[in-house]
Amino acid sequence: MSKPLIVANWKMNGSLEGLKDFFEKLDLCEYAEAVVLPPAVYIRDCISAIGNRAIAVGIQNIWTEDAGAFTGEISASMLKALNIQYVIIGHSERRQYMYENDKQVNDKIHLALKAELIPIICIGETLKERENGQTDLVLKEQLNSAFENINLDNQKNIIVAYEPVWAIGTGLTAEKNKILDAHSLIKETLETIYNFNIPILYGGSVNADNAASLINIENVDGFLVGGASLKSESFCQIVKNITKNFERS
Ligand code: PEP
Repeated sequence: MSKPLIVANWKMNGSLEGLKDFFEKLDLCEYAEAVVLPPAVYIRDCISAIGNRAIAVGIQNIWTEDAGAFTGEISASMLKALNIQYVIIGHSERRQYMYENDKQVNDKIHLALKAELIPIICIGETLKERENGQTDLVLKEQLNSAFENINLDNQKNIIVAYEPVWAIGTGLTAEKNKILDAHSLIKETLETIYNFNIPILYGGSVNADNAASLINIENVDGFLVGGASLKSESFCQIVKNITKNFERS
């Protein structure tokens, strides 16, 4: 990936009024790819508010089947028909509050790829797991089960996001050495399965102040941003601060 990828995860936030304001004030630059993940109910409004601005749209979740009696759920193929490009799979909030498990994560990746959506697969350790020295084990297990039987011969568009659970929404950005170690481990693990480079995003309290230094950590290819992506000004500032510092080719 030659440009950093900055993904705005709005979670269950925003309003129709707010999103119009967000896109009116959007001031991005060509040196980064930007993606916005609104709540599903706002997807179509987002697409029309974006117009021809250079920002892609994604979704925060899909279901593990393509159609059927699954009240309240949305399938990958439905989203493809709306020109949605990205989908987050396995966000820690879904693992924690909706009890999403590794098997479901794997099923969702299969369906996302089948629908030609780009999956952004979230993995990360809890504070307890880190304190117990289990970070590497947890990351490897999450990766191996997420990628089980995932054939990427035809669709190489797939992304991993390292999101330490204890850094999400807490203001506690992981220290550089922890991010470096985790991203190296993820890269090495993926290299044993695939013979091409899979981009790795970092997520966890990224903001306009820390983005410029975090982007220069080896193997950090961009960010998944929650809180600081809700306002256009702070999201655009992250993108601008990054592009000043992004040194890879
Ligand atoms: C996230 O929800 O993926 C996230 C990284 O949130 P925040 O930036 O608020 O920590």
